[in-house]
Amino acid sequence: MSADVQQNAPRIWVTTLLFSLTFIIAVTAVPLYGFLVGYSLTQWVLFVVFLAFCGFSITAGYHRLWSHRAYDGNVVVRAFFAFWGACALQNSILIWGSGHRRHHRHVDDNDKDPYSINRGFWYAHIGWMLRNYPSGEVDLSNAQDLQRDPIVMFQHKYYVPLVLFSNIALPALIGLAIGDVIGTLLLVGVLRLVVSHHVTFFINSLCHMWGNQPYTNTNTARDNFFLALVTYGEGYHNFHHYFQTDYRNGVRWWQFDPTKWLINVLSWVGMASNLRRVPDFKIQEALVHMQFEKAKDQLKRIHLPNMEAWKETLEAEYQQFTKTLADWKQLRAEWYEQKRQEFAEKKQELQEKWHRAAARTRFKEMEYMLKMQRKRLQMLNLNFAAAT
Ligand SMILES: [Zn+2]
Ligand SMILES: [Zn+2]
Repeated sequence: MSADVQQNAPRIWVTTLLFSLTFIIAVTAVPLYGFLVGYSLTQWVLFVVFLAFCGFSITAGYHRLWSHRAYDGNVVVRAFFAFWGACALQNSILIWGSGHRRHHRHVDDNDKDPYSINRGFWYAHIGWMLRNYPSGEVDLSNAQDLQRDPIVMFQHKYYVPLVLFSNIALPALIGLAIGDVIGTLLLVGVLRLVVSHHVTFFINSLCHMWGNQPYTNTNTARDNFFLALVTYGEGYHNFHHYFQTDYRNGVRWWQFDPTKWLINVLSWVGMASNLRRVPDFKIQEALVHMQFEKAKDQLKRIHLPNMEAWKETLEAEYQQFTKTLADWKQLRAEWYEQKRQEFAEKKQELQEKWHRAAARTRFKEMEYMLKMQRKRLQMLNLNFAAAT
């Protein structure tokens, strides 16, 4: 896209004024009121509750449930996320989800990704919402499933009243009840909105700039623990861009992903179902693949006395990798065939279980082989790094 088209894109005054005014109030009136009058503990608790409700409605609702269909939520869950998602003021589920799917499909493409990081930090963070850029044009052809969800359509139709009620009327009513309307509006209304906005916007900006690329280097998305801390676990963005249908972003059990934990809890109490996970083997495959990329890259830049031996080691590892992948594909095909036959023949349950247990052991073995290979490659890479 030419710089000319970008410069001349017509300004969207509603968003420009909204973002500017709320930000100005957050950095002036909010601290001033705190200094002159002060905020109560109740107001701070409400601030945190509203912030968390809005945040999780975007990450667990708008993002993982609706944009990626990574799991299903019952009507209560979806209604909750639709209400508090409107309170987060980031457009309706329908528009957000459609735009986000385009972001994944055309990531880093300046003409098609609505918030391409290649147009700079400011653009990916907030700039893309301030002007009517051609790349941001609404095209709902990729969101037909969302259009069939009555809750999504209800929220889309009544978006403005929902926004006004949740952001102004609700904090004002609570303020009335606790005896401080202005303070509650400033803290729970404005400051909460501004913090909530920028925290989410970091996922589009910083999560495409800072961090590691353990799973893929085919796009700019990064894994970043510190960003995961403030984004309810969305900071593991490299994993997410590679395995977007997985309901987890921080896929390891120890990774900080409260959105994943929330979805797990919802599933345990029967409010969420069909949680989608990519096979562990596929995750290991991506990790090992990236270790090879790194090793190959390092080998080009270093000079060791026994270069040929290192190259041979790497080549042997690569051959084993290819073989493990082929074995896995075959086992998976056999497994599906077995399941199909069992289903057709309605074999005894006991036998079925036995087959599954045997297959599971073999799958586990292959995952383990890849895990060990990844460890060997990591050592290799450390050796290479020491030689540079
Ligand atoms: Zn996504
Ligand atoms: Zn992204």
